[in-house]
Amino acid sequence: MNLPIYLDNNSTTPVEQRVLDAMLPYFTNKFGNAASRNHSFGWIAEEAIDKARQQIADLIGANNTEIIFTSGATEAINLALKGTFESYRSKGNHIITCVTEHKAVIDSCKYLERMGADVTYLPVNKEGLIDLQDLRAAITPATILIAIMYANNETGVIQPMREIAQIATDHHILFFSDATQAIGKTQVNVVDDGIHMLALSAHKMYGPKGVGALYVRRRNPRVTLSPQIHGGGHERGFRSGTLNVPGIVGLGKAAELCASIGSEEQSKILHLRNKLESALQKIEGAYINGDRSARLPNVLNISFEHVDGQALMMAMKGIAVSSGSACTSASLEPSYVLKGLGLSDELAHSAIRISLGRFNTEEEIDFSIEQVTKAVNHLRSISPAWIMKQETNNSSK
Ligand SMILES: *Cc1c(COP(=O)(O)O)cnc(C)c1O
Repeated sequence: MNLPIYLDNNSTTPVEQRVLDAMLPYFTNKFGNAASRNHSFGWIAEEAIDKARQQIADLIGANNTEIIFTSGATEAINLALKGTFESYRSKGNHIITCVTEHKAVIDSCKYLERMGADVTYLPVNKEGLIDLQDLRAAITPATILIAIMYANNETGVIQPMREIAQIATDHHILFFSDATQAIGKTQVNVVDDGIHMLALSAHKMYGPKGVGALYVRRRNPRVTLSPQIHGGGHERGFRSGTLNVPGIVGLGKAAELCASIGSEEQSKILHLRNKLESALQKIEGAYINGDRSARLPNVLNISFEHVDGQALMMAMKGIAVSSGSACTSASLEPSYVLKGLGLSDELAHSAIRISLGRFNTEEEIDFSIEQVTKAVNHLRSISPAWIMKQETNNSSK
């Protein structure tokens, strides 16, 4: 067993060996520009791009002409939101999203508000789920887009995609979903789920960093987006710029692997997560954050009363986890996602996110249970608030 154990797979995943092997030739021998139409160097690169496009389309039930390559999910999200707003502005300026979205969605919406958009941020209940009644009530004649993530990066909570899609379709509103965390961890199908635009990222699914894709539906309805990056007209004009051929080949291979080992891997990870969860929830004053059933199989977000999440992470040298969101853990603000679920500042600060991945073993989980339990007990043994609470409990018995 190699230490530290990596349990932060929602932040990023390693590139799987088979993905790397597929990518390598495209850095050297097969270095062509996929836009070079006049020689075999270009054709070889283009062929590789076509294959990757198909691999991604197959994973999510799309058509290969509906996949646009980007530099990652952040760019895909920016294109979906800003591109929709610009393109459909004559129809309306209202966007509906949710308070627990990733910053890429929230900050794009904040930007669009400055550009004249009217944005509704739906609340979530204490399980982290939106209320469909709230969604229906928020719709106005000016609503052009519903942007609700598939699965949350901090809690793993899965929103009711099909019900949201039905509401969007009934009102002729476009439905975009940030599925960055859902891909490879749960079954995603853009047709069955009724999604019109979907963002994904290679580095969350054992592919390389800096590459991702946006699915844009071409029929029922045909979505038109205003491009956000101009020059050269690559990707059918949706996103200009020379394609990152090795990265895209890696994304394609990663998608193929997710499709082939999907449900088997998901149940293995679910078993390990549940083992970890049932051991840790036995610790006194432990609270699991997020809906217990509508949740990704790999995530455990848990708060320990009177234990600071940051201190807990530091005390667990043998495991790499996250406190709150990776994107906000540089600041001392409590996670806005956990605040959205109604957690007190204290319990939000007490949370850690453990996210399992393809390469975790049962032995590593057993070790992690020990690490967390020891660290929590230790921090409480030196916490005046915890000691006082124990004394109060004892004297009232
Ligand atoms: C990681 C992540 C993103 C950003 O993806 P990048 O490819 O790193 O830009 C967006 N949304 C969610 C839910 C994520 O987990």
